[in-house]
Amino acid sequence: MWPANATGSQAYLCHRNKPMSRELEQTQRNLKSSEEESHHRLLELEVLYRTASVGLGFLDHELRYVRLNEALAGINGLPVEAHIGRHASEINPELAQIFVPMMEQVLASKQPLLNVEITSAPPCERTWIVNFHPVTNARTFGVSVVFQDITVLKETEDLSTRFGRIVRSSDDAIISITLDGTITSWNPAAEAMFGYPAQEVMGKAVSVLATPRNANELPDILGRLQAQQLAEGLPQGERVESVCRRKDGHYIDVLLTVSPIYDRHGRLIGASEIVRDITQQKRAQAALLRTNEELRQFAFAAAHDLQEPLRNIGLHAQILDSQHKQNTEADEQVESIIESARRMQTLIRDLLEYTEVVDIHGAQEKSIDCNEVCQTALGNLAFALSDCAAEVSVAPLPTVVAEPAHFIQLFQNLIGNALKYRAKGRHPQIHVSAEQRDGHWVFSVKDNGIGIAPEYHDRIFGVFKRLHGRDVPGTGIGLAICKRIVDHHGGRLWLESEVGGGSTFYFSFPDC
Ligand code: ADP
Repeated sequence: MWPANATGSQAYLCHRNKPMSRELEQTQRNLKSSEEESHHRLLELEVLYRTASVGLGFLDHELRYVRLNEALAGINGLPVEAHIGRHASEINPELAQIFVPMMEQVLASKQPLLNVEITSAPPCERTWIVNFHPVTNARTFGVSVVFQDITVLKETEDLSTRFGRIVRSSDDAIISITLDGTITSWNPAAEAMFGYPAQEVMGKAVSVLATPRNANELPDILGRLQAQQLAEGLPQGERVESVCRRKDGHYIDVLLTVSPIYDRHGRLIGASEIVRDITQQKRAQAALLRTNEELRQFAFAAAHDLQEPLRNIGLHAQILDSQHKQNTEADEQVESIIESARRMQTLIRDLLEYTEVVDIHGAQEKSIDCNEVCQTALGNLAFALSDCAAEVSVAPLPTVVAEPAHFIQLFQNLIGNALKYRAKGRHPQIHVSAEQRDGHWVFSVKDNGIGIAPEYHDRIFGVFKRLHGRDVPGTGIGLAICKRIVDHHGGRLWLESEVGGGSTFYFSFPDC
């Protein structure tokens, strides 16, 4: 029932309704703004979801794709729309056969399955960390998946594990230091080589390994690395032979390779030192040098001292010869003694030449033009060359650092042999040339002579080794001398030849 004063009660109602509508309006405004706010949030989330680099997706309780982002679609190799409504096992079956059972487990247990590492099969092997969460609320029941690609991380991890293994198992000491020489890593070989356990030297100055004589060596190298970076930007590192001090005070000979270490911005932050113990090698080298020198002196003394009694034999044989002219038998024997003495003298002279040919102390090496030395050798052989009407061609030859006399001897011996061992009825044709191969000059002397059977290709370089009798003059020392000269310069002497097909003698020489 309405009150009698309808107008009044209407007015009352109006009065009561006014504040209510303001509240309502306010509520409506609040609602609208929170709706807008939620809408914005949703849009933000949507963008995040779509553009995330991790693969995100939601599958319903039957494991059909409901929603997924581009990243997950990319992992499966299909567009987003091709997934919707389809069962997980229909999409990328190879991956699905791994993670479908996991999602079934999540749905059954309603428990998340976290940090599962999944790797796809080669050739495009990739690794992901995958999290599966059950989604259960009033309206939905399914499973959400999050795929994070860790392939690069894994590769870096594998690489550093492998690298770490190499460093740990290396026989060389591998140490890293900062630019002020503080030790920051120390491998087991460093422990064994220097006698310091890692915990004793980490964080200490690397100068603990220096000897008083080379205290500045490493700081100087580090200084040069820094200076190079300032000047050119890319320091090269250095390799030096040095001496280090062990914990027990003993000194060891080492080969030290210092290489720059950069941070990820390319800034020089330190250096790695690879230290190889060469103490035994140095000792063996020194012993070999001593033995060689002793042998050289012995051979020289023996050859030198043998000359005197030989000269006497020859002299007395000649006297005998002149006194017993009538006795033919005695004459022949005396003649034979004289001939043997002469031959022995020649052998000893050649042996002396061989021992003296590479006199390290007296070597006078300089830059020589091989065209000139080859012409000198040809000049020395001029008579023999014209005697057998030899044709010689010489290609342009390089300049090398050597003793000129050595090079003249090399050309003279090899060209001389090409003449001496010419084939019957053929004019000797000789070609001299050179070409560059792997940091060396390879010279060749090619002839059209009698050739040498392959089984003798090594033997002929030995001292007094000949393939001919007395009918061809020579003592078998020429090639041995050539080999000694070439060996001394770090080169190699070899040949290619066949019986009747001529020979090519090659020798390599460092290209400096
Ligand atoms: P030698 O000429 O005094 O015998 P070498 O040391 O110069 O001594 O040569 C050793 C041997 O190698 C020679 O006796 C000869 O049999 C063989 N030889 C060297 N050069 C040639 C060549 N160009 N062709 C054929 N045989 C050669």
